[in-house]
Amino acid sequence: MFSVGHHLTRTCIIANRLLGRRSFASTLSTGTRPLEEIRNIGISAHIDSGKTTLTERVLYYGGKIDQMHEVRGKDKVGATMDSMELERQRGITIQSAATYIDWNNTNINIIDTPGHVDFTVEVERALRVLDAAVLVLCGVGGVQSQTYTVTRQMKRYNVPVMAFINKLDRQGANHIKVLNQMRQRLNFNAALLNLPIGLENDLSGIIDIINQQAVFFDGKNGEIIRRTDIPPEFKEVAEEKKIELIECVSNGDELLGEMFLEEKTPTTDQLVQGIRRATLARKFIPVYVGSALKNKGVQPLLDGVVSYLPHPGEVENWAIRQLPEGKEEKVLMNPERSNKHPFISLAFKLEASRFGQLTYLRTYQGMTKKGDVVYNTRTGKKIKISRLVRMHANQMQEITETYAGDIAAFFGIDCATGESFVADKDLNLSMESIYVPDPVISMSIKTQDKNSNENFSKAVTRFQKEDPTFHCFYDNDNKEMLVSGMGELHLEIYGQRMEREYNCPVILGKPKVAFRESLVEPCEFDFLHKKQHGGAGQFGRVKGILEPLPHDQNNQVIFSDETYGPDVPKQFVPYIEKGFRQMCAKGFLTGHKIAGVKFRLIGGAHHCVDSNEISFILAAQGAIKQGIYFLLKGS
Ligand code: GDP
Repeated sequence: MFSVGHHLTRTCIIANRLLGRRSFASTLSTGTRPLEEIRNIGISAHIDSGKTTLTERVLYYGGKIDQMHEVRGKDKVGATMDSMELERQRGITIQSAATYIDWNNTNINIIDTPGHVDFTVEVERALRVLDAAVLVLCGVGGVQSQTYTVTRQMKRYNVPVMAFINKLDRQGANHIKVLNQMRQRLNFNAALLNLPIGLENDLSGIIDIINQQAVFFDGKNGEIIRRTDIPPEFKEVAEEKKIELIECVSNGDELLGEMFLEEKTPTTDQLVQGIRRATLARKFIPVYVGSALKNKGVQPLLDGVVSYLPHPGEVENWAIRQLPEGKEEKVLMNPERSNKHPFISLAFKLEASRFGQLTYLRTYQGMTKKGDVVYNTRTGKKIKISRLVRMHANQMQEITETYAGDIAAFFGIDCATGESFVADKDLNLSMESIYVPDPVISMSIKTQDKNSNENFSKAVTRFQKEDPTFHCFYDNDNKEMLVSGMGELHLEIYGQRMEREYNCPVILGKPKVAFRESLVEPCEFDFLHKKQHGGAGQFGRVKGILEPLPHDQNNQVIFSDETYGPDVPKQFVPYIEKGFRQMCAKGFLTGHKIAGVKFRLIGGAHHCVDSNEISFILAAQGAIKQGIYFLLKGS
């Protein structure tokens, strides 16, 4: 009757990077850029599929870096986006790093998102502020467990997607197998836009299916594009794949669908427009192929980002207006890049740099510039923008203004992630907050050296601010300090960072999984707590119903006071709630927290002398035990 549920949502870390080792002197504004020339994309993938390597190539071809490094580099430099020392050591990307390139006269902002399952809140954050995503898949491993998680997240935020099947130079690579997995396992209406010319060691270039051309990547780093006719042995398959592409797009686009029924062949331009419409509507997924490591297929993917992924004006974003009595309404943001509409932005990521706190922002409406005053909607605090920058991995560039659709960063502003900044606080507008999953694991933590307690609390304060899924608290029952988060690696990395960055080595205990107790059906209670022999008496009676909450609220506990009349005087109601919440925090059957339960207080009784706060706290706790025993007996 009483079930124990495991919170499966796993997650994240937000970590610190040392910033600004080199700061660019130039000052740049993106304000003059029309919306059509901006893309905000995330790169998501299963770990090891080559996302970091791909991003490195993207930065290289986009002219942002003049050399490429390998991930676990023999050259000991490490890929540019893995700027945290820890990332370099482990060869994984545990932190979104924001950067941008210019490609075909378009400003592409890129957030490199972590692939490890423990860090998916980073992916969530990226998807919350970005308009589209590139899903990288390994040409050998194909669709893997993390691909499902990322796909679910993209769906939740309604993010259009394109895919890149990487590593086609590896032994056993098979793009058709991976495409079929995407179709069958992820339910994607996906089709190839490119085909590899050769596989494994023979991979020499790609075929552009739409234009029916072969593309080769010459030069030392594949930077010189050479287009030729398709080699004769690939002609037939290239034509077949074009028909398949038109068919798939027709299934996701009305206009092309009609042409298909009328047996008309679309022109190249009609096909491109159809792919764009269907991709934006999330009814089609364009699939690119190549090998990031061997510098093949990356530039066509970038062309695809410009051609098929939305600009900020094609994405609807909503702010929330707070109305009286706790009500809210949604307000559609106007993405126009001007100062005509009031400035609204969302802080989606914090980093501590040696210059102070760096706050990454996505602007949704209006603009702001250096020297302007804005407000934090949660705290109401007034903030003067003294420095505005854009980030490229761990380097930064000063800018003077930022407009709707841009990703930028403020310096030295005290705030937490998910908070909004606005120019006019009287409009009562803020952006929706970011989805933050509950922690799934906890570990005891203690400092190795008693003298480092001060540094420990500094580190904890900062990490909790940067990362809403990381918590640290004192467990009164076991008299120990606990950290909780989204996985063992998540907590271990914070442990290491305490030593590395705060000179505070810590010892972590064994991980404990955060199970939850919950109700499976409602139960009534009527409980009297009475102690009236000798000394001061206690008297409190509570009546009501305990109810299970729906699945999407299974991590919440809700208290609802539905009493009227004098039976339970109003001043005792908060203590009934307190008793209920204390019981939930402690758990009952298995010692794990109770969650997904609503306590409906319907009635009760009091005694004019003996009733006091503690009587009602204990009455509420007795009521929960009573309700549960009743259910257990009945089962
Ligand atoms: P991430 O974890 O998704 O960021 O993947 P990385 O970029 O760190 O790559 C993981 C490993 O795969 C590294 O050793 C890369 O050198 C390697 N790798 C990346 N792309 C390719 C590719 O196209 N072909 C081959 N053969 N290896 C690749």
